[in-house]
Amino acid sequence: MALSEIDQPSHGNARRISILGATGSIGKSTTDLIRRNRERFDVVALTANRKAEELAALAIEFDAELAVVADPDAYPALREALAGTQTEAAVGHEALTQAAGVDADLIVAGIVGAAGLDSTMAALGQGSLVALANKESLVCAGDLVLAEMQASGARLLPLDSEHNAIFQVFESENAGDVEKLILTASGGPFRTRSRAQMAAATPDQAVAHPNWDMGHKISVDSATMMNKGLELIEAAYLFPVAAEDIEVLVHPQSVVHSMVAYVDGSVLAQLGPPDMRVPIAHALAWPARMESAVTRLDLAAVGSLEFSAPDDERFPAIPLARAALMAGRGATVILNAANEVAVESFLDARIGFLDIAETVARVLDRVEGFEIASLEDFRSLDRESREIAKNLVKSAS
Ligand code: NAD
Ligand code: MG
Repeated sequence: MALSEIDQPSHGNARRISILGATGSIGKSTTDLIRRNRERFDVVALTANRKAEELAALAIEFDAELAVVADPDAYPALREALAGTQTEAAVGHEALTQAAGVDADLIVAGIVGAAGLDSTMAALGQGSLVALANKESLVCAGDLVLAEMQASGARLLPLDSEHNAIFQVFESENAGDVEKLILTASGGPFRTRSRAQMAAATPDQAVAHPNWDMGHKISVDSATMMNKGLELIEAAYLFPVAAEDIEVLVHPQSVVHSMVAYVDGSVLAQLGPPDMRVPIAHALAWPARMESAVTRLDLAAVGSLEFSAPDDERFPAIPLARAALMAGRGATVILNAANEVAVESFLDARIGFLDIAETVARVLDRVEGFEIASLEDFRSLDRESREIAKNLVKSAS
């Protein structure tokens, strides 16, 4: 898509925007930004899994055309709350995929997990801007996602703070002169904990992130550092850089959001407060800028910035993810499926914290991967991996 088309949204002056996962952490940061920049956006479609009342309230506030819940049990409440309004209510996986494909200038893909893949594909198929928070889409089907993007002429804008940072400082015209990408990681709530301490970690401790306020799944991923592993895979798809040239650096202050190193020795970084509204505002207004109302970064108050190499012994999820990325043949699908099952089981107190990465490693050992050439291939490998992971959890608990 040409920049001139992006500059001028197709309907009047406001950018037509849809939010998939409107009731989640990414969704809330997005609606907060829209609220503060009301004249710049027209809300088209909003979706949620099952929080019908919350979704209906947003649909009414923003006068959305369509509101969709994925869970059929939530539909009666949505229909009732939207009766007599301008917003159409719909339900189910198909309606959700359709909502993603409704004509919009920008679609925020803010669903968590592989459950977001079909809607990410539909959003890309529509051919406009897709602001991608749902990193699992790329982890599960990166090649298919990129192929869909190329076929439709859509453009991916990364919302993940690290990838958004890289996007802001990556000189596409000098892509061949990029030496490496450096993904920063806060280290999560257990950065300084021993394996023995982590073995006893509770779900409440794991979701209490020191810097970021996020959904439960990504919070646990941050605690195991699988989040950085998933982000390594995400970066390998988003940027034309070899997997071995993507590094991870622990940076507890979460001020430097990631970096790009060039052959001349220059390292470009994007800095900001640890607030997702910064990268989201960047994508919502791209290629322009808009006000985000975040607390400004005060480097004198931060004082010092620390960096260290990640500890692969205490955080085996990063090497597991890197190995899956290198292995190919669907290994990242297996990794993701096993991780989703293990995280859910940990949150339900059925396995311990260290069992999360252990389960992922075992499932990777047991499941035979294959090239993912279609969404059907993905679904079959995803299903098999989840089954094996669930059996391992059952026998462990
Ligand atoms: P969340 O749990 O707060 O919200 C998830 C949203 O997806 C909710 O609106 C929920 O209703 C919807 N949803 C959940 N399961 C669904 C299903 N099966 N079908 C349809 N909708 C469903 O999650 P989040 O923290 O906002 O994360 C969303 C995505 O963004 C994840 O992929 C995460 O890794 C990524 N991300 C989040 C942050 C953050 O700060 N929260 C930062 C970077 C990346
Ligand atoms: Mg991130």
